[in-house]
Amino acid sequence: MSSRAIRATHYRQLTEKVDGFFDRVASREAADMQCASGCSDCCQYGLSATVAEAEAVADVVAAMSDAERAALQQNIETRQQAAAASDARCVALDANGRCMIYAGRPTVCRSHGVPVRLLDERSLPVISACYRNFVGRAPESFAADCVLDQTTLSATLLAINAGATDRFALDELLLDLLEQA
Ligand code: SF4
Repeated sequence: MSSRAIRATHYRQLTEKVDGFFDRVASREAADMQCASGCSDCCQYGLSATVAEAEAVADVVAAMSDAERAALQQNIETRQQAAAASDARCVALDANGRCMIYAGRPTVCRSHGVPVRLLDERSLPVISACYRNFVGRAPESFAADCVLDQTTLSATLLAINAGATDRFALDELLLDLLEQA
């Protein structure tokens, strides 16, 4: 098996875990979460992808029809122009608020909305979530298995990428993939 195939297998296992985590939190915390199809507040401009994430995006683009690729190209150009005019939304977000590379969206997109433990600017752990969710909730009110640990997730992603720290800007990555298709 090639190193890319091994990486893809490990990355798929990771995304399945993160997706499963999201589903568990969304099920338990439904009353305090507003996440729903069509909500795209988290989809901001400037996303980047690691090697494994970029390869997953490449697989999605490779499976697209010519019409879907043309629509994605147009969408990227529209989003880049809007970003220059300070409406900074992700280049993969279409006009209806849906992700055009949903099956291959990066890991961070899969954790949008759930409580995430991360380090603040003083390297102290804080729990953060979308401003729409868990309004008024204290950090200690979350069950331990309903908080995603960003440090662990990043370390796992780094291991899957065999220590490679390369990151690819999503807009440049998509444009390159579209040009090669
Ligand atoms: S890749 Fe998709 S899910 Fe992720 S920020 Fe962009 S539009 Fe949103």
